[in-house]
Amino acid sequence: MTIPPRHRGRFAPSPTGPLHMGSLVAALGSWLLARHHDGDWLVRIEDIDPPREVPGAARQQLDTLAAFGMTSDEPVWWQSTRGDAYADALDRLLRDDRAFACACSRSDLAATNGIHRACVANDGAPSDASRQPAIRLRVNDGIAGFDDAIQGRIEQDVRAAVGDFVLRRADGLWAYQLAVVVDDAAQGISHVVRGADLLDSTPRQIALQRALGLPTPTYAHLPLVRDAQGRKLSKSDAALPIDPADPLPALRRSLALLGQDPRTAAGTGGIDAALRRALGSFDPARIPREIDPSRRFPFTPEPPASA
Ligand code: GLU
Repeated sequence: MTIPPRHRGRFAPSPTGPLHMGSLVAALGSWLLARHHDGDWLVRIEDIDPPREVPGAARQQLDTLAAFGMTSDEPVWWQSTRGDAYADALDRLLRDDRAFACACSRSDLAATNGIHRACVANDGAPSDASRQPAIRLRVNDGIAGFDDAIQGRIEQDVRAAVGDFVLRRADGLWAYQLAVVVDDAAQGISHVVRGADLLDSTPRQIALQRALGLPTPTYAHLPLVRDAQGRKLSKSDAALPIDPADPLPALRRSLALLGQDPRTAAGTGGIDAALRRALGSFDPARIPREIDPSRRFPFTPEPPASA
């Protein structure tokens, strides 16, 4: 008898602004799937890019999640404290010759649209001695493919599409791809449930998992909430933040966007009772691959909860 591994999911926002409807859909989708499978749900703050960080945003995101009844089952991880783990992973890759120092600048790579397949700068040595080189993963030929639980089969030739990608930037900051792969493995994440904007990062993450000998989790990429022009909502632009003081309307809206019946979140008893009822009737098979264009942001007024 094989015992299925325990479902461990996570929500991993970057603290670049307040959560908006797109982030709420990602948080709620990962929470519902984890709870539906009697699993764990963790929150990880991906604060590895100080120039893009908005002061106070992480705390505000955690408070908003709490107002929506979602709190991490384990202490929240902060990626800014995980540098030693990323350095260990990078050392292993360098030792195994799976990663290399690279001094190519953006303009050096202009001829290949920024895609790195071989160093064009002088042997990895920075021309300006004060600049430290970036570290890149050596990407060999081969397809990284996976079966996404919502989006279906996804395949990418990582070498052709993105080439040798950056693990540590020339300014010394850790790249998202390295940090997310190291932490998903370190936290034993079995199911990565997140917005479909990260679909094309996943083959890179799988290539990196293979290079580090780490397991590949199951992936489920939720449909993206878009504005009237079809663009995804972004924390760093003016996408309207959600109101933690009045969570039920946004909860019902998010349930509808996830293909679920929003009426389950109507009624009395506050947010926890609403979430419990939503969970009781949650059906993962109803999550759409894409959100219907009629449901774009800014949203039309919500129908009455009792309709
Ligand atoms: N930190 C990323 C973001 O906010 C998400 C990372 C992930 O879920 O893998 O876009």
